Amino acid sequence: MHPELEQLLVLQDRQQKIKQIQTEVETLPLQRNSLEAQLASSAAGIEALKHRGRHVEVDRKKLELDVGTRAESIARLKTQQYQTRKNDEFQAIGHEIERYENEIRKIEDEELELMVEADKIKAELTAEKKKGTIVRESIARQTKDLEAKSTTLQSRLEELTKERAEIAGKIEEDLLSRFERLFKSKGDAGIVALEREVCTGCHMKVTTQTAHRVKAGKEIVSCENCGRILYDAA
Ligand SMILES: [Zn+2]
Repeated sequence: MHPELEQLLVLQDRQQKIKQIQTEVETLPLQRNSLEAQLASSAAGIEALKHRGRHVEVDRKKLELDVGTRAESIARLKTQQYQTRKNDEFQAIGHEIERYENEIRKIEDEELELMVEADKIKAELTAEKKKGTIVRESIARQTKDLEAKSTTLQSRLEELTKERAEIAGKIEEDLLSRFERLFKSKGDAGIVALEREVCTGCHMKVTTQTAHRVKAGKEIVSCENCGRILYDAA
């Protein structure tokens, strides 16, 4: 093979690896964001349950006060009832006391429901907090792994960039810039193998004459379809 083509192949290998690593590095912030979103969602779940719990507690206290006012009314009415001498007034007060007592029973039923609800929320909150701890631990581990990966990728990138620069320094300038243009515009490779007269870059058959020139290996030959530099696969 043409020695310059060999160098180009090594250069291309490094450039492809660099590109691959750069793509991987680009996904790191996305992975971090996803972890942060998981964390926020777990915290939001806990916060929502706490909020519900506070709400139920406020409602329950309000009912407790309602019971309290009615109990005071009953006490006052009982004093009045004790003091009265009129039979019909005694009975009327008795009805009123009964009415308040019925109301208290109803409110106490509601209170009981709220207490059941509060217990349910408490249990949910305990479960959610437990889940949150597991999520936090898992995320801390994943974040650490991401940091380690990022460091590894960065140092590998530096190594490859240095290697690439060294190889590039040995390649003739015109050929290098021709290759760079191709590598950039094609996105995958600037130099590809010719296999059974087919360019492996564009998968088109080249002319017999082109194939012969590639096989001879005495000059730099491009695919007449895609422009990529060709080397003999055999
Ligand atoms: Zn081609």
